[in-house]
Amino acid sequence: AEKLIIQSEKLKLAGEIAAGVAHEIRNPMTVISGFIQMMNEDDQHPYQSYTKLIESELERINLIISEFLILAKPHVTTIKEFNLEKIIQDVVLLYTPEFNLRGISFAESWNAPNVVVAGEQNQIKQVFINIVKNAVEALEKEGSLHIYSTLEQDGFIGIHIQDNGPGMTQEVQKQIFEPFFTTKTTGTGLGMMISQKIIQEHGGKIIINSQVNQGTLVSILLPYKSPKKSAQSI
Ligand code: ADP
Ligand code: MG
Repeated sequence: AEKLIIQSEKLKLAGEIAAGVAHEIRNPMTVISGFIQMMNEDDQHPYQSYTKLIESELERINLIISEFLILAKPHVTTIKEFNLEKIIQDVVLLYTPEFNLRGISFAESWNAPNVVVAGEQNQIKQVFINIVKNAVEALEKEGSLHIYSTLEQDGFIGIHIQDNGPGMTQEVQKQIFEPFFTTKTTGTGLGMMISQKIIQEHGGKIIINSQVNQGTLVSILLPYKSPKKSAQSI
């Protein structure tokens, strides 16, 4: 319980920081980025390797700010009913070039075509972006990724993202939802924490099944509306 309190304090703080200063930080960063890009365009200048590094670090700061901004957003605001499978298919489309580029073989199977979920569509989309991104980052060349849906008991729909990457140790699995926990050199450690927060706010849960050297299965369970009622909306 104590840990939970610390976690929610951290969350609150992160949100406040993000809301207050993110935009202010972005302005001077845009100026810096502009000059760095200008320098990079000059092949002659002696500090090419440094300016390239500065550019990539600036990108990293931008990424962190973006993730903070997701946290800073107020609670679930515009609640709508939407087709969950459709949202994930959008995310898949977004990632198709990346799958091809990395030689990832992708398979999908959709088993709940008429199921609608109520909530913040963009937040839910962000969750699947975060999780697919993790799978892609975990996969070496020739990896495989499978996304499928299931109808679960008690009115839940399951969306499953399965990769055959390196998997996670028990130690990593225990910390996966903690803010700033990352095993990557360029990670922020915010993706899974934000995803869990969003899914919980929608009355769902995230289940991780992972084995070292076997791969990872991330399952998201969300309560759905009865398909027949979906036409009447809220
Ligand atoms: P980040 O991606 O910035 O590191 P996340 O919160 O998204 O932060 O993930 C936290 C950590 O969980 C990752 O650093 C990684 O160690 C582990 N992880 C998440 N998804 C996977 C996956 N599909 N395969 C292996 N490890 C994973
Ligand atoms: Mg991530």
